[in-house]
Amino acid sequence: MLLYYRYTSIADPAAYHAAHRALCESLELRGRIIIGHEGINGTVSGTVENTNRYRAALEADPLLAGIEFKIDPTDGHVFPKLSIKVRDEIVTLGLPDEADIDPNALTGGRLSPVEFYEAMQEEDVVVIDGRNDYEAELGRFKNAICPPLRSFRDFPDWLRDKLPDLRGRKILTYCTGGIRCEKLSGFLRREGLDEVYQLDGGIVTYGKDPEVRGRDFEGLCYVFDERIGVEVNHTETRRIITRCRVCGSVESRYGNCRWPDCNEQIFVCPPCRESHGLFCGESCREAARAEGLPAVVPSENPV
Ligand SMILES: [Zn+2]
Ligand SMILES: [Zn+2]
Repeated sequence: MLLYYRYTSIADPAAYHAAHRALCESLELRGRIIIGHEGINGTVSGTVENTNRYRAALEADPLLAGIEFKIDPTDGHVFPKLSIKVRDEIVTLGLPDEADIDPNALTGGRLSPVEFYEAMQEEDVVVIDGRNDYEAELGRFKNAICPPLRSFRDFPDWLRDKLPDLRGRKILTYCTGGIRCEKLSGFLRREGLDEVYQLDGGIVTYGKDPEVRGRDFEGLCYVFDERIGVEVNHTETRRIITRCRVCGSVESRYGNCRWPDCNEQIFVCPPCRESHGLFCGESCREAARAEGLPAVVPSENPV
């Protein structure tokens, strides 16, 4: 599977979308791709041969010059289908057009994994997780501030509230693959903060770096595909930080509450899924029972 993005000016996103769809379909790729005036953001899976061809095609596209790919081996596809959409933004920060951040014009300094690790050790540094709350719940950097936000578009307001605490301090931001921090760190700089740095390549690159090997990232990295969580920390500091909601045992596999109106992502260990069902709490369990829904669906238990 491939993870990539490129901020670049695409004059006609609709035409670009049509050509890109044809390319992806010919290569039998699956995944999610967003195309907009400001660039492209994608994550796809396919055979080694076809993903190599796809990379070559994108690298040969002058609009995408300098594009970088994060590559993960997987057993087959990790997406059920191919979705390619045209959107106003390739990650939605939701600022008005005139206030939008163009990372090619304004963004935070880029730190390599080693530089990021070293910066985290400094006194009085502030590490901000640039992802949504449910992502940070599964795994995050030790001592990071994880904003209680459900959506990336909630960040500007949250950060403006925090500006008095952040002023005069060194700020480090990180996200999954780096795309969100490009805008987030640019936003913080425009709000008047000088020392703003982003983890170049995101958590995914940090976990693959041969020197830091994911050090001090706790838990798993949330990903938007069928794997949900992937390993990052390959050092002795690795630990799982999430627990089964029912019995409290260490558990890192997400499931969705079986009550359809809820569907909340929760951690319930396999034995508790058997005995209690995959429910976030008694009210959903009762609601499902009243409707005659089965409490346990064996195929939902991950191996
Ligand atoms: Zn349990
Ligand atoms: Zn529920």
